[in-house]
Amino acid sequence: MGKTAETVWNNCLSFIEDNITSQAYKTWFEPIKAVKLTDNALSIQVPSKFFYEWLEEHYVKILKVALTKELGTTAKLVYIIKMENTYGNKQPFTEKIPSSNRSNLQSQEVDVPLKNKSPELKNPFVIPGIRNVKIESQLNPNYNFENFLEGESNRLARSAGLAVANKPGGTSFNPLLIFGGVGLGKTHLGHAIGVDIKDKYPEKTVLYISAEKFTQQYIESVKKNNRNDFIHFYQIIDVLIVDDIQLLSGKAGTQDVFFHIFNHLHQNGKQVILTSDKAPVDMIDIEQRLLSRFKWGLSAELNHPDYDTRVAIIKNKLYRDGVEMPDDIVEFLANNIKTNIRELEGAIISLIAHSSFNRKEITIDLARKIVDNYVKHTKREVSIDYIQKVVSDYFQMDVDTLQSKTRKRHIVQARQLAMFFAKKFTKASLASIGSQIGQRDHATVLHACKTVDNLSTTDKQFRKYVEDLNKKLTL
Ligand code: ADP
Ligand code: MG
Repeated sequence: MGKTAETVWNNCLSFIEDNITSQAYKTWFEPIKAVKLTDNALSIQVPSKFFYEWLEEHYVKILKVALTKELGTTAKLVYIIKMENTYGNKQPFTEKIPSSNRSNLQSQEVDVPLKNKSPELKNPFVIPGIRNVKIESQLNPNYNFENFLEGESNRLARSAGLAVANKPGGTSFNPLLIFGGVGLGKTHLGHAIGVDIKDKYPEKTVLYISAEKFTQQYIESVKKNNRNDFIHFYQIIDVLIVDDIQLLSGKAGTQDVFFHIFNHLHQNGKQVILTSDKAPVDMIDIEQRLLSRFKWGLSAELNHPDYDTRVAIIKNKLYRDGVEMPDDIVEFLANNIKTNIRELEGAIISLIAHSSFNRKEITIDLARKIVDNYVKHTKREVSIDYIQKVVSDYFQMDVDTLQSKTRKRHIVQARQLAMFFAKKFTKASLASIGSQIGQRDHATVLHACKTVDNLSTTDKQFRKYVEDLNKKLTL
């Protein structure tokens, strides 16, 4: 009776939205489209197989409750998986490969599949002359899941890592690409996955390697004329973890050899885990065919940890080191070091060192001094240029567009937001802000600030823009 797929789904959504975090809602429910409603079955389209698995694992209960409320106890949910091997990137990909065509495409691009029938295996990790076929994982047992604390900022990456560790090569997260800024836990998580796999599947060959070392080994192998041995060595690995693959950028030879190794492993159901400081869309000087491989699996981002996660990480570290520290100091550290977990740890270590060395108590004053030392170098002056960059990135336009004379609503809004934040975060005068943001006068800037104030009280979506941008600018 007047119920359409859309209205049913919208009602479900508002129920779900009220019951989960807004981050989770945004990630997992906004991308879903209601497709049709027949009898009592609602079909929804999800962007990937991964999505479907995730919803089933984490949200099946709430989906059921929501749907039952709408359609009664005989309600059914049908998933339609969009045939894309991509997820987690903001921009649409140029290359869309339905999974059924994967193998075709691969055999077109790979000339000759490389076999690993070579009887003697040259292991690039072994000092020449010493025979040793056992492959050492190069894993650091101190980087494990247990001490990789979970928070909103890493939940997706961490859970995907756990899923991969439970079934290496057996999930749709292959490759699993973990990306994020410096010191946010990429290396730690990469090791943790390997350590967990070694634990659960001792017979599997796991190898952790930095892209830098991989490159060196490759160059060495070319020099010594045993490039094939190098390739064969990597092709017998069950779980390959390559850290910082952005370092392959511009290195055509290494990329080529990695491409062959990757294809071989992937075709044989082996697991590949990659880390990078950039999202695939932002990687430069990496061959397109390699980039398209990275997008086959899951790209999961490590974000800046929120306050609670920072506190948890500090407390965990102190606990493991057997050190006690007053809560107000823990809070002080968490409030002042926000963008890099490595720096957070560095500050704790040096705080402990200072206090024990000088037999002083750990005080707020001491903490302040140390934080000053740590943060001074990294603190970013919020400049009007920087604000314009952040705002235009957020709306996926370039700064020139933001400054242009156009009256298109979304561009005008972006420009007004830039002006508003310039007023908020810098000491610049209205006139100076105007002249730096597209040659406007002070009255325009004033008007922009008022408009942003008004809209953020009346328009929910707009308020979200303001909150998001505020967060980005104060990190
Ligand atoms: P990246 O490789 O991204 O630069 P690392 O993996 O080296 O960062 O992490 C930097 C430091 O922060 C490491 O000491 C790591 O153990 C710690 N760290 C990162 N994320 C977490 C977390 N979620 N819980 C606990 N420690 C973490
Ligand atoms: Mg690292």
